Amino acid sequence: MHMLGKNHRMNTFSKPAKRKPEPVDSTTVVCPPTPTGRREYLRRIIEMVDRQQNVCAICELPLIYLEATFDHEAGRGMGGGHRNDLIEHEDGSWMNAALHARCNALKSSVRYKWTGGKYLPVKSRNK
Ligand SMILES: [Zn+2]
Repeated sequence: MHMLGKNHRMNTFSKPAKRKPEPVDSTTVVCPPTPTGRREYLRRIIEMVDRQQNVCAICELPLIYLEATFDHEAGRGMGGGHRNDLIEHEDGSWMNAALHARCNALKSSVRYKWTGGKYLPVKSRNK
């Protein structure tokens, strides 16, 4: 009996074939953990800090680029299934926010949403 005999079948759950990395641009929903993906992610944090006029979306105290973290208003989901790294909705309204690391940690898994120019907790589960 040979380990790799005629009847041996490749395990279909083995790791998938390598794919060419998809190009990263401002429309990329989930920035990949590649140099270009990380660069785009940081660019978006900077853009959010700028549009928030250098204040944290939750505590409204000054926020500098180096302190800013990316907050995902819909959560990142288990395994990143619902992760959305975009910073604008299709209609151009703001999505996601830049927060102090401590504010991001304090809000924990509470969902926030831009509402009337403020980043506020979402009361219901409805969108
Ligand atoms: Zn803050």
